[in-house]
Amino acid sequence: MTNTDKKHLPCPKCCGTGNLWEFSHVKGGECFSCNGTGIKHRVTRQKKQSHYWLVLDPERNRLYDETYLRRDTEADALELAKEMQPMHLQPLQLVEKTYTYYETKRVI
Ligand SMILES: [Zn+2]
Repeated sequence: MTNTDKKHLPCPKCCGTGNLWEFSHVKGGECFSCNGTGIKHRVTRQKKQSHYWLVLDPERNRLYDETYLRRDTEADALELAKEMQPMHLQPLQLVEKTYTYYETKRVI
């Protein structure tokens, strides 16, 4: 057996047939797990980190962390802080937050 053969394992959902008789009423019984190919696809999962910026009101110790107030860049957050500033007495500050997410990719 070569390496290529190992990569193309039969789909465990449909046993490599590409069809599931119990779902014959949906898309002709095509296996959704392998898209009817009968081949198991390998998926990689990569841990990634990203950042976003929030506006902080130090006077009230209020962090504006509602989703629609999050900004991807410091420059965008600064722009938002400028728009919000007239409603506040103390200068607003920016806070950088980090979040982790997983990127999945179909390899084969
Ligand atoms: Zn399948």
